[in-house]
Amino acid sequence: MSTVFPPSPQPLVPVAGTGALFPVRRIFCVGQNYAAHAREMGTDPTRTDPCFFTKPGDAVVASGSTVPYPSMTANLHYEIEMVVAMGGGGADIPVDQALGQVFGYAAGIDLTRRDLQAAAKKAGQPWDMAKGFDRSAPLGTIAPASAIGHPVRGGIRLAVNGAPRQTSDLSDMIWSVAEIIARLSRFVELRAGDLIFTGTPEGVGPVQRGDLLEGGIDGVGTVAVTVS
Ligand code: MN
Repeated sequence: MSTVFPPSPQPLVPVAGTGALFPVRRIFCVGQNYAAHAREMGTDPTRTDPCFFTKPGDAVVASGSTVPYPSMTANLHYEIEMVVAMGGGGADIPVDQALGQVFGYAAGIDLTRRDLQAAAKKAGQPWDMAKGFDRSAPLGTIAPASAIGHPVRGGIRLAVNGAPRQTSDLSDMIWSVAEIIARLSRFVELRAGDLIFTGTPEGVGPVQRGDLLEGGIDGVGTVAVTVS
């Protein structure tokens, strides 16, 4: 049976070292997974479970792109994050089986309308329009776990116009990748193609029109976009 209009194109992300592409299904994100970032956002990292939110799958933007400054915000922020690319899935995945469902890892930027997020928090409203807007998920090439393993330490950083703004280490994550997958899979059944942004370290800040955002994670990859 035909569709009433052509289906939307599948979001695709290049896989490092191959000619292959990773087809994106959904995007999940973890809030406040580094203690120093939780503190800079005004919360106590020792008493908060990870909170999950989402972006549409087609919010993915290829590294090297130019992203227009989004509408409805005067305080766009960058957040460098390690992104998990699921190659399998399931519901109620045990922690000790979680990494077996991972295809690979990438560097991503969780672009955030910080002013809308602050207003939503204050009003007890959802974060969707603060986090899940068009082109809010710049993403670098995915490095297969079969090539790089499962990173648990290594530098994670972001520079704006060449000036360092975020510098931390994956070992500072509060919840490990395996713990995140296990916990998230209690809420939703994960499947191949799902992406998980694992939270940003401290040093988040505003983006101005014309800024070049360059992020990187040791042993994983890089991501860069210009905001116009
Ligand atoms: Mn984030």
